Amino acid sequence: MKPLADGTLPPESSAYWVALQQFEEAAAVLKLDEGMADFLRHPKRELTVNFPVTMDNRSVKMFTGYRVHHNTVRGPTKGGIRYHPNVDLNEVRALAMWMTWKCAVVNIPYGGAKGGVIVDPNQLSEDELRKLTRRYATEITIIIGPEGDIPAPDVNTNPQTMAWIMDTFSMHKGYSVPAVVTGKPIQIGGSLGRFEATGRGVMFCVREALKLKGKRLEEVTVAVQGFGNVGSTAAYLMAEQGAKIVAISDISGGYANAKGLDMAAVKAWMAGHKTLEGFSGGERISQADLLGCHCDVLAPCALENQLTAQTAPHVQAWLVAEGANGPTTPEADKILEDKGVIIVPDILCNAGGVTVSYFEWVQGLQSFFWTEQEINSRLERIMTEAFGAVMAQAEKYQVGRRVAAQTLAISRVAEAATLRGIYP
Ligand code: NAD
Repeated sequence: MKPLADGTLPPESSAYWVALQQFEEAAAVLKLDEGMADFLRHPKRELTVNFPVTMDNRSVKMFTGYRVHHNTVRGPTKGGIRYHPNVDLNEVRALAMWMTWKCAVVNIPYGGAKGGVIVDPNQLSEDELRKLTRRYATEITIIIGPEGDIPAPDVNTNPQTMAWIMDTFSMHKGYSVPAVVTGKPIQIGGSLGRFEATGRGVMFCVREALKLKGKRLEEVTVAVQGFGNVGSTAAYLMAEQGAKIVAISDISGGYANAKGLDMAAVKAWMAGHKTLEGFSGGERISQADLLGCHCDVLAPCALENQLTAQTAPHVQAWLVAEGANGPTTPEADKILEDKGVIIVPDILCNAGGVTVSYFEWVQGLQSFFWTEQEINSRLERIMTEAFGAVMAQAEKYQVGRRVAAQTLAISRVAEAATLRGIYP
């Protein structure tokens, strides 16, 4: 691993280390010029903000947040905002870098960014969360905007969070700027289909990957780790297409039924509760049991570092669809590859969200809105084309699908950088 410009290396336990290791492997396959590789290894700019929030009991509490822009050669930066106690700068750097590659894989005109605040939002009241969001949005206003950097939801943030950020930015400008964020509620300029887009993209990718083995969704069993926006939507949509969902999990634990969970009952439960905690429609299993359960398709849709040297040997699925960003470590990649597991890598598998975010941004800039059917069919076309392009790349370079997706993305970004030239 090459040290960064400041002479340091990220800790081996960090997501940025994983992102850089993946990058080095792809850069070597591409025989990328070392100057270009060094340019692409580094985030372009990083903002750290420490800011106060007045809590409900009138005490003042300090919070730390980040916004990182990885690369802008293909367009303005795009990327989610995460609220989680484990957020740190190296995680945000990794997620920003993956966003650059993701936008390039689906060939949309964006670079990558990411943001995050170190906070457990479950410990905050709604009013505290609103104040935290508005203050964080104000602090990062200097580097976000509809032409420069457009945030979206990620773990523990949602359309309401985006509405608060949009309103905060708009108050500073003196007029409404809907295109400053995506993943907003429909009523204030959000796009139809955006909420489901990432999970829908996962479903399209699983459908395409199954075709490699001559299978269809109605013939397979699926386990989904993480039952938030991405995991739950992917599970419901795959179930709608006939797949049998045999296990699901969230932070409260796993729930399984080898004959298939009743997804209508799961949906009804989730409508009345924030989490799966207390759901009695399946046998309780551990997080580890879920990753190693008997199924055809495993969709990790929670956080980074879930399939590791410890958990990957127990995976029984023959297809892994990465709804989450960075769920598989490089060691686990090798283990799964040796087992013959087909991996649909994160930068392809979960790119449906940023694709419909792009549609939302375009609609917002034009104040002209599309039908849900137009959105879903455009998403389907982009996802299936990107899937095909990654498979072709794997064939061309005789590499695994992760390296294929990374080389496709990196070569597109490098080409754009070469055409633009290094300023001045
Ligand atoms: P979310 O907050 O809606 O859901 C996260 C889910 O994961 C929750 O159900 C939570 O309980 C569960 N979870 C957390 N820790 C867990 C653990 N240790 N084991 C099992 N479950 C756990 O978040 P989301 O938006 O669905 O994002 C999930 C993943 O997908 C993240 O990696 C995110 O970066 C990625 N992603 C999200 C989008 C999007 O549009 N929201 C787009 C692309 C990628």
